[in-house]
Amino acid sequence: MGFHKIYDVAVVGSGPAGAMAAFCLAKKGVRVAILEKSTLPRYKPCGGGIVRKAMQLLPVDVAEIIERECYRVELNYIPHHLHFSAKRKRPIVSMTMRDKFDYRLVLATRAAGADIFSKCRVVDVVSKVDMVDLMTSKGPFRARFVVGADGSLSAVAKKSGWRETRNLIPAIESEMLVSQEEMDRFCHSARFDFGLFSGGYGWVFPKKAHLSVGVLSMRKNTVRLNDMMGNYLKALEIDPSKKSKRYGYLIPVTPRNDAFMKGRVLLTGDAAGFANPITGEGISFALLSGQTAAYALLDGAFRKSGVKNIFESEIKKKILPELHSVHIFAKLVYRYPRLFRLLLRFHGQKFVENVTDIEMGKTTYRCLATDPLNYLQLFRLWD
Ligand SMILES: Cc1cc2nc3c(=O)[nH]c(=O)nc-3n(C[C@H](O)[C@H](O)[C@H](O)COP(=O)(O)OP(=O)(O)OC[C@H]3O[C@@H](n4cnc5c(N)ncnc54)[C@H](O)[C@@H]3O)c2cc1C
Repeated sequence: MGFHKIYDVAVVGSGPAGAMAAFCLAKKGVRVAILEKSTLPRYKPCGGGIVRKAMQLLPVDVAEIIERECYRVELNYIPHHLHFSAKRKRPIVSMTMRDKFDYRLVLATRAAGADIFSKCRVVDVVSKVDMVDLMTSKGPFRARFVVGADGSLSAVAKKSGWRETRNLIPAIESEMLVSQEEMDRFCHSARFDFGLFSGGYGWVFPKKAHLSVGVLSMRKNTVRLNDMMGNYLKALEIDPSKKSKRYGYLIPVTPRNDAFMKGRVLLTGDAAGFANPITGEGISFALLSGQTAAYALLDGAFRKSGVKNIFESEIKKKILPELHSVHIFAKLVYRYPRLFRLLLRFHGQKFVENVTDIEMGKTTYRCLATDPLNYLQLFRLWD
């Protein structure tokens, strides 16, 4: 079989997880390739909101592709007229379009020395004792290790023997060209709206000249996202007839429970199930897990057992405890909406301030969840 060049690492997928893994490896002189099924740059259904804790992980400056900085976030519980907002001196969420954001990282990765193959879909993964062969639409590739960064539908995971243990929830996103009046109304903050539909929420993210409006639902079997979106636009008084396309996709809001590395394959980002189970925010842990995969390969000196020990233990240390803690709050938000509403009514401002500090990277859900005092503090129940 005529392989392309043989790589130390083949990274499948050029989203934030894949680009970050390949960037860190290329910078250290590792022979690394990104295999990406789409033509680059590619559209990704996503709010494109990069929270500050994710921005802090970026290895390159992305200032030129930021559409708008939001120094203010809003949380509304619309039917009960509960409105809260938090402001910071630094941007809380930097608004981007994912095609440009991801491509900026890919270009930096190429400049660092990685080979980039676009229109290269991985269709099979064949593990050998000391190599992995990848069958792609551009022919076979061979590498010592593979990083699966191919998103929520990960073919790499399926073909490498992972069974599905993540909870995948649906979300839709619309890039809406709106009137100047509508733009003026929504351009000042990243907005999160609860209470209009059970088990989900809606968001409005202002970009340079349009709004990204989306809804997600934790109830995957019973949802009608298009109806939810219709109701949401109505509640916001945004004209739904404005020219816009809707894109749907799945967000994994629970991590896999049967290992993150098998054989010579490591999973990162959505492929591993690292999105936030309240908001669906996934870019921060996509970046962190990509970086962690790269350092596990380097620090494990490309020896299978060493890499596995480091990768699994770092994921257990840096990512899983935080996700487990977010789950505690997610239960409150989505399973006990009345309790959530009540707590918002009395302590909503404190809640928004705390969540903002988490997104700024100043504290974590884990800190809040593991210390009973912080629990109380979260909603100031003693007030
Ligand atoms: C509607 C919606 C809105 C969201 N909004 C936000 C937000 O505002 N902020 C935020 O932080 N997160 C958001 N998320 C979550 C975020 O998009 C993901 O968590 C994030 O993109 C995960 O990054 P990744 O690198 O793991 O995967 P992805 O970004 O999905 O990248 C995977 C890449 O792999 C490629 N690929 C797939 N299969 C193959 C294959 N077989 N061969 C080769 N290449 C392949 C894909 O083309 C893609 O480029 C949102 C998600 C959705 C669905």
